[in-house]
Amino acid sequence: FNDVFKKVEMEGLNEKALSEFESRLELLDYKVPFPKQMKVSCDDELAEASRVLEFPVVMKINSDEILHKSDVGGVKVNIRNYEEATAAKKTILRNVEEKAASAQHDGILVQEMAPQGLEMIVGISSDAQFGPMLLVGMGGIFVEVFKDVAMCPVPINKKEALEMLEGLQSFKLLNGYRGSEKSDIEALTDLMVSVSQYAQQNRNEIKELDLNPVFVYPEGKGVKAVDALIVKY
Ligand code: ADP
Ligand code: MG
Repeated sequence: FNDVFKKVEMEGLNEKALSEFESRLELLDYKVPFPKQMKVSCDDELAEASRVLEFPVVMKINSDEILHKSDVGGVKVNIRNYEEATAAKKTILRNVEEKAASAQHDGILVQEMAPQGLEMIVGISSDAQFGPMLLVGMGGIFVEVFKDVAMCPVPINKKEALEMLEGLQSFKLLNGYRGSEKSDIEALTDLMVSVSQYAQQNRNEIKELDLNPVFVYPEGKGVKAVDALIVKY
């Protein structure tokens, strides 16, 4: 009974979060550029991942009950070899055991580490009146402090995606500013349209989606979504 109660409490009004692994699976058909990854749950699988993936890698706890992985010490970046990977696995599991003892988890994600880009947030938030809304903003203080986000009901096309970006205070930073390179706005608007299509085709199930952060690279170099979280109804 206690378990059932816990689940109901956690899921609120029947809301169900998906792990990062499951969230990425949902988006499989939508051409979202993610870093290459493998999910491991033992040292043999970790060794296999070390052979297949290119270092440096990032390792993260994979759980549908841990939605902010860093908050519980569940993310380790810049892991350079197999020895560091085995140590990181231990540390992550110990941290999670300590800070989220009751949370179930489903393995550890080993991801190729994407080079740093301009950090953006691309998301979906469902609204009773408008249905799913696409949301975009520049990560970090721009969203959190300045509330510099653009929102638009889905579906959106590429032109509308560009208009959303142009409406941001932070657009100047994307568009090349005082010698800083112009970002791959083409790839970013493609990503926004893909996320919009996913939300449109799953309108009645999607409560929330967060790609946070999305790294945006200079023109021609694309984008990478290095985290994914979907909450369903
Ligand atoms: P959280 O659940 O805490 O949001 P994230 O998956 O976003 O966890 O990871 C935390 C941070 O680690 C990210 O904001 C990003 O800076 C970095 N990070 C995560 N995955 C990668 C990756 N594959 N490549 C590069 N950096 C990453
Ligand atoms: Mg994140």
